[in-house]
Amino acid sequence: MVGITAVYDIIIVGAGPGGIAAAVKAKEAGLNYLIVEKGEDIFSGIISSYPTGKEVYPTIPKGASEGYLMSLLKPPEKKVTIEEFYIGVKEALKNLGGLNIKTVEEFKSFHKEGEILVVQTNKADYQCRNLILAIGSNIPRKLKIYGDARPIARTLHDPNKYLNQNVLVIGGGNTGADVVITLSKLKREKGDQTKVYWANRGEKFEVVREVARDLGEEILLGGDIEILEDAKPVIGEVDESGIRRLTIRIEEYSLDDEIKIYRSMSFPMKNVIACIGFMGPAQIFEQLGMELMTHETGRKLELVILDENMQTSIKTVYAIGGAISPSYIKRSKDGKSDEVKHLNLIYTAVNDGAHVVEHIASKLKGSITPS
Ligand SMILES: Cc1cc2nc3c(=O)[nH]c(=O)nc-3n(C[C@H](O)[C@H](O)[C@H](O)COP(=O)(O)OP(=O)(O)OC[C@H]3O[C@@H](n4cnc5c(N)ncnc54)[C@H](O)[C@@H]3O)c2cc1C
Repeated sequence: MVGITAVYDIIIVGAGPGGIAAAVKAKEAGLNYLIVEKGEDIFSGIISSYPTGKEVYPTIPKGASEGYLMSLLKPPEKKVTIEEFYIGVKEALKNLGGLNIKTVEEFKSFHKEGEILVVQTNKADYQCRNLILAIGSNIPRKLKIYGDARPIARTLHDPNKYLNQNVLVIGGGNTGADVVITLSKLKREKGDQTKVYWANRGEKFEVVREVARDLGEEILLGGDIEILEDAKPVIGEVDESGIRRLTIRIEEYSLDDEIKIYRSMSFPMKNVIACIGFMGPAQIFEQLGMELMTHETGRKLELVILDENMQTSIKTVYAIGGAISPSYIKRSKDGKSDEVKHLNLIYTAVNDGAHVVEHIASKLKGSITPS
């Protein structure tokens, strides 16, 4: 371990939109800050989870009370790919004189020594007065199927790999829709006659307006997309030729009281992309000793408890962005606890980062004793 030197005003874990917004605000406020990012560069979480060439939307939740608080992190209104957006943000940060960031360094834990937090990474220990966890929500959910043949792609890094073969995309949310659009467009443009099957466990596909628009456009342009509603991945197994396959049940009906008929399809695992979302990092928060609350809204969720300034139950430790989506528990000063919906969007992460640093800056300013 490297010896401890400075005491930072803020250490920010994660250089996604939330962490970057916090760092830019800290820099503007003249605070002594450090970002620790486990990936090789900023936006590692995004780059590893978005399909290559995916368009990025500046979506703002309906009824939001404010716009984007940092324009450099707002995806442009005109269509841009994730790669273009990333380059634009890098350029804007360069123009600001860069950020104080340590990449390829993973946050592990922290402990308190009086008012000071000692933050441990895989490379060093650091001291700070405030810690912001902007670690995103990138812990992939597991596909619940029988059998051992589990490995399935979770995002689309190279769409060309899926040319000339039918592909199954699982998951009726924005990520699944983005993958479907990207693949269908490529196949259509290359004159590839194979299909993109899009399966969802339920009957409802839930996508934001912009994604729905792009999907509609792709279908109108002749994209060969077959939607499989109420489809259930059931078995993962190795077939007689040694190929790992996924069987998905697409229809189920009863002949009489006793006999049920199932119709299913089978795809080689290498042609399956499971966009079934990510789990919030509740386990990480719990390991760090933060208070969580079990909340039941249809399914059981462990939600982190934050105060009105996004401070966790551990004083001076904050959690923001994707890490606290899709909702968290807000505990007010009078002890009342309410679930707050918190959509996993660039907008929410950016505005969280800006608000939290504003709060920390005013707190630090207030604590300076006049000489
Ligand atoms: C496929 C897809 C498409 C999307 N499209 C859109 C869109 O068009 N518009 C939109 O507004 N939103 C979109 N989103 C959501 C958006 O990307 C997220 O809301 C946003 O990235 C959250 O930002 P964040 O900073 O909280 O987390 P992230 O972007 O996930 O960043 C977290 C960072 O923390 C780092 N990290 C994690 N753990 C550690 C650790 N222990 N030590 C050090 N570093 C760590 C990660 O490497 C990562 O870089 C999309 C999401 C997906 C998956």
